[in-house]
Amino acid sequence: MRIGVPQETTPGERRVALVPDLIAKLAKSGLEVVVQSGAGEAAGYPDSAYAEKGARLEPDAIASADVVLKVQPPGTAEIEKLKSGAILISFLQPYDNLAGIQALAARNITAFSMELMPRITRAQPMDALSAMSTVAGYKAVLLAASRLPRFFPLLMTAAGTITPSRVFVIGAGVAGLQAIATAKRLGAVVEAYDTRPAVKEQVESLGAKFAELALETKDAEAKTGYAKAQSEDFYKRQQEMMLTSMAAADVVITTALIPGQRAPILITEEMVRAMRPGSVIVDLAAEQGGNCSLTEPGAEVHRHGVLILGLLNLPGSVPFHASQMYAKNVTNYLLHLVKDGAIQLDLTDELTKGPLVTHQGAVVHPAIQPRLAEAAR
Ligand code: NAD
Repeated sequence: MRIGVPQETTPGERRVALVPDLIAKLAKSGLEVVVQSGAGEAAGYPDSAYAEKGARLEPDAIASADVVLKVQPPGTAEIEKLKSGAILISFLQPYDNLAGIQALAARNITAFSMELMPRITRAQPMDALSAMSTVAGYKAVLLAASRLPRFFPLLMTAAGTITPSRVFVIGAGVAGLQAIATAKRLGAVVEAYDTRPAVKEQVESLGAKFAELALETKDAEAKTGYAKAQSEDFYKRQQEMMLTSMAAADVVITTALIPGQRAPILITEEMVRAMRPGSVIVDLAAEQGGNCSLTEPGAEVHRHGVLILGLLNLPGSVPFHASQMYAKNVTNYLLHLVKDGAIQLDLTDELTKGPLVTHQGAVVHPAIQPRLAEAAR
């Protein structure tokens, strides 16, 4: 069976879906790896490194592949190149990319979306969303630190004492916890808030303060482990209660997401106005519209003296390690699907079925089907 690893075609994407060190693992399971020449270059993995580990370098790695590993959802030209009946394992942005999903079904592709990996213990080594959130949380702090006109740490110098910066993290999931840990390492004073009450202990164990907002959040977590959407009234009260923490912060890193929905607006213009001039907001929810009402996804804007960074694809800006982590997730998933050198789909297995979006010419995912029906109306 032939595994194809093409170069990513999305503008600005520097990651690659497989790194050389994992080729031996695939070969041991009887899989042949074909990498498109130059596919790993931008991530720091030259062709020679793949060749040394036994991969074949070719000008095209899609047309003849039985399984294609990708980072970004394939574009129209890539979908047309896929062999009918081939398997695709990739991020597919399944909720926003309905046309792409339909095109994959029409091409008879068995497509697995890494975003839809179930949150069960068995799936942890395949959890690419968590891996990429780790990268994003880390990078968000570095970006904020480099743009802030202040130091992060407390400094006692002959030129006087520098007080530490204050960082407020909204949403303490995987990205938020990594942001807290990174900001603490740089010496900032860190406060964080999340609607899931279980998070308090994790925040405190990293040495940060949990912002106690007088909000009723008993029903904040879905069975999937993700946050549940709250009412408009809840968000309004949350905004009011976070005003003090916002006004005291030099940096706000906001990461709050609800799967499959627009990110909740948690920071209003009034809250931005309450911040000190020179403060920085990094909106990691920008890809889902942003947690701040002034965020412009894909851009940085200055509003009321505050810099708001709505950068997209932060994991792509740390391509070496982001590729290493993603490749591990994807390889673990592929090997889960392979038995005796061939793909054998057990559709009764939650881990196989959960991320399966298209199969045998149809869109099969229960969360995507209603969206298609709605779009067709
Ligand atoms: P996410 O990226 O969907 O959301 C980020 C965070 O935003 C979450 O912690 C969420 O609770 C929070 N949030 C949502 N609305 C908010 C609001 N109004 N105010 C403040 N915060 C808000 O989530 P994630 O980081 O991918 O995962 C969340 C948690 O799921 C993790 O911390 C982890 O405990 C758990 N998890 C479990 C598994 C597993 O069991 N396999 C895998 C990954 C994560």
